Amino acid sequence: TPHGLTTRSRTAGTVASELPRVVGAGLVVPTLSGPTPYANLDHAASTPALVAVKEAVDRALETYASVHRGAGYASRLTSAWYEQARAEVAAFVGARSDDAVIFTRTTTDSWAVLSAALPADTTVFVFASEHHSTLLPWGDLRTVRLPVPHSVAEARALLADELAARSGGQHAAHRLVVITGASNVTGEIWPVEDFARLAHEHGARIAVDAAQLSAHRRIDVAAWDVDYLAFSGHKTYAPFGTGVLAGRSDWLDGGDPYLRGGGATRVVAAGDTTWATGAARHEGGSPNVIGAIALAAACATIAAHRVAIEEHESRLLSRLRDGLSTIDGVDELSIFDERHDRVGVVAFTVRGFEASLVSQVLSVEHGVGVRDGRFCAHLLVDDLLSGTGEHETAVRASIGLGSTKEGVDRLIGGLRELVEAGP
Ligand code: PLP
Repeated sequence: TPHGLTTRSRTAGTVASELPRVVGAGLVVPTLSGPTPYANLDHAASTPALVAVKEAVDRALETYASVHRGAGYASRLTSAWYEQARAEVAAFVGARSDDAVIFTRTTTDSWAVLSAALPADTTVFVFASEHHSTLLPWGDLRTVRLPVPHSVAEARALLADELAARSGGQHAAHRLVVITGASNVTGEIWPVEDFARLAHEHGARIAVDAAQLSAHRRIDVAAWDVDYLAFSGHKTYAPFGTGVLAGRSDWLDGGDPYLRGGGATRVVAAGDTTWATGAARHEGGSPNVIGAIALAAACATIAAHRVAIEEHESRLLSRLRDGLSTIDGVDELSIFDERHDRVGVVAFTVRGFEASLVSQVLSVEHGVGVRDGRFCAHLLVDDLLSGTGEHETAVRASIGLGSTKEGVDRLIGGLRELVEAGP
């Protein structure tokens, strides 16, 4: 079927038949009591591949060759696929026509490209609540780290104050605000357009980490008026190994090529190299064309089913949060407040139980995949747990296309059983 869509007929009152299918959603995990289907509540870490992605990859593997190098049929076809994939990803992120859209390996890698290309005198403003991949790439010397905010108004005020305070002298030339689209710990969605306006009012550019948004909500560089955006293929229903950096070309064309080598050059003469501009400048070496095709297939499928995906996830998120709220001693983590709009990510603690024990019990006894720890956001989790006097880590459940109502119920049932049995 086109795009790997399920062909089962629509069930009254649900949009399940319109959801893209994922590969491996029914994985069977061995448990003490026998085989249990895997309940995937770990989509914030990585998402399983879509059927449409597998089909696109299977097709490409039949004919592919190296891109931008050969004159042969397979090479020309593969080059066309690669640039088509770029165009599809550009549409998916809502890139402006003159933005660069660069294929990278991950969000982390995208920030490495941007960080290396920033003008030397750039000051970077970033909240301590960010994922380490977005907090750390900019270099200590030029980074102004803002504390974890506890309301959107506070976040706005903290940023406005710092931008105003550092507007002259060494900070005058180039400034970049970096924020996340949705937190990988609490799922809370940041008002990106608002922060873009604020940054621009102070003459700064803004870069948005869309790693936790891309699979779940529409992203739109041009409509939000953001300057740079990054996301990861493996969190967007494509396999590992692809990421994207989209945004303004001037800094990217002015910066050092990310990987110096074949494909990134325009002219190489004795003693002198002229580097390419555009995406090619930062895509040295033979690109991951199969990965790009996979990612584009994922993006096209998601974009075509946004409404169904959001309905599915919001229904499961409500069920999960309602269930958690009925269990004694379970506390959710929030940066802003519990009513704030969020993607399907919920981090929580369970009074009397270590997070690692909770996640092991859920996995081994109930086949439920969640994560525990500090989720590569140590400063944020430390801040949110500092008042508990008990916990240093939390459990995170995260919803996506591989999640089901039954899986959510299994998590809630497993937790209730654990809490009722006592520590
Ligand atoms: N930003 C956020 C919000 C994330 O959740 C993650 C991954 O967990 C990253 C950045 C880094 O993504 P990657 O590991 O694909 O570079």
